[in-house]
Amino acid sequence: MNISKQTIEKLYTTRNLSDEELLSLLACDTWDALLFSLADKVRRSVYGDAVYIRGLIEFSNFCKNNCYYCGIRAGNTGATRYRLSPEEILSCCKEGYRLGMRTFVLQSGEDPFYSDELLCHIITNIKSNFPDCAITLSVGEKSRESYQAYFDAGAARYLLRHEAAADALYNRLHPASMSASGRRQCLKDLKSIGYQVGAGFMVGAPFQTLSDLIHDLRFLQSLDPDMIGIGPYLTHSQTPLHMHENGSLALTLRLLAILRLMFPHALLPATTALATVAPDGREKGLKAGANVIMPNLSPVSVRQLYDIYENKNCTGAESAQCSDILRIQIEKAGYRMVTDIGNVKRPL
Ligand code: SF4
Repeated sequence: MNISKQTIEKLYTTRNLSDEELLSLLACDTWDALLFSLADKVRRSVYGDAVYIRGLIEFSNFCKNNCYYCGIRAGNTGATRYRLSPEEILSCCKEGYRLGMRTFVLQSGEDPFYSDELLCHIITNIKSNFPDCAITLSVGEKSRESYQAYFDAGAARYLLRHEAAADALYNRLHPASMSASGRRQCLKDLKSIGYQVGAGFMVGAPFQTLSDLIHDLRFLQSLDPDMIGIGPYLTHSQTPLHMHENGSLALTLRLLAILRLMFPHALLPATTALATVAPDGREKGLKAGANVIMPNLSPVSVRQLYDIYENKNCTGAESAQCSDILRIQIEKAGYRMVTDIGNVKRPL
């Protein structure tokens, strides 16, 4: 079907479109400029010009899983593995706090080395040293009891990309030991416990169709997350899917704008993948509706080792230590860097 200006205005006013309209919109670049300007208008009406900064600490690249697209999958014997000790993690937080950050994102592969007891100890330790900071976890699929224990220890936010809401696509990207329904259940558990929850997916993943993306949008509508992380699929040579091309910047930006219009209150990161796929990817992401950036706070010696995909951008403005470069980039794009805790702004 043909997309008209009225279709975009309908998305802006009703925050929704039919499947058929969304499919046509995803396939069409004619209205990108209007989409981006309306997304920017909505984002400014909820969050003003703020771009929230979160310090990202990638504390282990061990993972028991074997997602077919991921460079740190268990089956990649070529990966150089590392783990950070609780003391090293705390010292990353100290550095981040010194730089003004008030949110720390603790991310890892699914690494059984970090028992619930150890993770809770790490969380408690950070909270007691930095009580004015928020802790976001991104450590994969766990039992409801484990999620509850981390929450009780002081973690308030959790990122778990659902990756693909369509079962058939999910199953082509993951081994049989993993399931889309299991992942969705984890997100529901996290929400019911009281976390601010983030879901998300890769754009342009191998085998992904535009219909699969409609499944993702509908799943997000049913979950109503606080954060939505999307980025282009980026290939890694040491994975079974190495022959597939990277996802497209244009489609990722269009989806970011659609997400901003459908979820006005959501925290949407301009991801490192976006900054990796194009030098100005992050600025374009901000202008399409994104309002979060997560610079890397991990020790410099391990940053390149957390290579879910190759050629990861983790220096310059991607590095927490280069916050002046980042601030200038954000201001040049027309926004303001904010290092405070930056909670989601849900309508009352
Ligand atoms: S995508 Fe996540 S769960 Fe899958 S192998 Fe990579 S780190 Fe592990």
